Amino acid sequence: MSEQRKLYVRSFGCQMNVYDAQRMTDTLAREGYVETDSPDDADLVILNTCHIREKAAEKVYSELGRLRKAQEEAGRQQMVAVAGCVAQAEGAEIIKRARAVDLVVGPQSYHKLPELLAEAEARRSGKAGARAKLVETEFPVEDKFDFLAPPTREAIGKRGPTAFVTVQEGCDKFCTFCVVPYTRGAEVSRPLAKILDEVIRLADGGVREITLIGQNVNAYHGLDAAGRPANLAELVRRVADVPGIARVRYTTSHPRDMDEELIAAHRDMPALMPYLHLPVQSGSNRILAAMNRKHDRELFFEIVARVREARPDIAFSSDFIVGFPGESDEDFADTMDLVGRVGFASAFSFKYSPRPGTPAAGMEGQLPEDVKSARIYALQALLDRQKAAFDEACRGRRFDILLEKPGRFPGQLIGRSPYLQSVVVEAPREAIGTLARVEVREVSTKSLSGDILGGEFFAGRPIGETRFIGQSEKLEA
Ligand code: SAM
Ligand code: SF4
Repeated sequence: MSEQRKLYVRSFGCQMNVYDAQRMTDTLAREGYVETDSPDDADLVILNTCHIREKAAEKVYSELGRLRKAQEEAGRQQMVAVAGCVAQAEGAEIIKRARAVDLVVGPQSYHKLPELLAEAEARRSGKAGARAKLVETEFPVEDKFDFLAPPTREAIGKRGPTAFVTVQEGCDKFCTFCVVPYTRGAEVSRPLAKILDEVIRLADGGVREITLIGQNVNAYHGLDAAGRPANLAELVRRVADVPGIARVRYTTSHPRDMDEELIAAHRDMPALMPYLHLPVQSGSNRILAAMNRKHDRELFFEIVARVREARPDIAFSSDFIVGFPGESDEDFADTMDLVGRVGFASAFSFKYSPRPGTPAAGMEGQLPEDVKSARIYALQALLDRQKAAFDEACRGRRFDILLEKPGRFPGQLIGRSPYLQSVVVEAPREAIGTLARVEVREVSTKSLSGDILGGEFFAGRPIGETRFIGQSEKLEA
């Protein structure tokens, strides 16, 4: 191993980027890089960027400006790489706009990072004073996952009991507002056995909950050992069977790809969490058609009903876009109506942001900012009320939480409910990574809190609401 250097990675955007950042860190660990949480003492800074909306992309340039200023003030020599979807979409433009950058690398080339960095370093030192630049944004044919290093046991342990695993990348749906098909490329599914190997390794390192991720995860069709395509339901079942894995989630799904088997998996598999992120984007059929979403509101209602029938305690979350070109007051009213009919436990909503190169960016009927603002305000107010009502309905409910990390105060741990709510409980650190049965006692806007009734760590121990609090204090002392 070469000499130790410090690496700082900052990720913007979605879970795919969080996963990619971990795999880049694991790959560079082999080259002697150790992670630091400050850009100021890093030898290498990687900005792992998001291009989905204009604001997300602009953040990168302001961060690069800040980095350059800090470098100049401290007289520091630091390598800077821009990765992720802005790198893919804007390539050489980044080098033109941001002088601090040494390397631009797209999401399909992360496995080449060690050699690209070595080349960028050599170029930089080869030209006295001038910074030579390197841009790698090809879509190579090899499976990058074969070349990215897996995490060590130590790295898995540090990241806690939940993990993302990318199972599918890219998208062939071509919604007219979206850059993903251009930045992440065509849809590709990883083979089943490779995903299972990764899950086994994670479980061996103490991971209990796996979230299978992909831009269009329920279009998964990776090959099984016999060379036949396996669907997401099959993959979920196989992942849930891995010893140590207690919970499985998947995201993000497209309504069109919610097949019968996947819906049945929600009925038959207790390990599959009763929480489904199913983006709908709009409640207006006219707008859904203009978005090329390949589903209408009726299909969305039908899927929600079928999933609810299969798993009555399921809760839904979704993504919404307001102010798509040509969206009228009536179209927006249809979105509000859809939200009212379905009822969401949580949701993400965005003002439409024209993305260069996408069909919607050139459509007539682009809406002014004040119309978008008024609509997003109204939609978010409704979604916030629904979230508050859902959380409130959890008061007094009993469910398992996965204890993930210490809380703010001594003796507290934070776990996640089946619905991804943070739940604060009194419990000793040794219980992290175990499932605990809780009864929800209090509900606030940020989190729930509850009393532990039992669970894996507490089996056979004399716990009750108050007795346990005393016991945790003793264990902490
Ligand atoms: N594949 C997923 C799907 O089909 O819904 C999500 C992909 S994207 C990473 C996450 C969300 O960003 C989308 O669901 C959409 O709501 C939002 N989004 C994508 N492009 C957008 C744009 N141009 N303007 C505003 N929001 C956008
Ligand atoms: Fe983008 Fe649509 Fe593909 Fe989702 S399904 S990634 S919104 S093109």
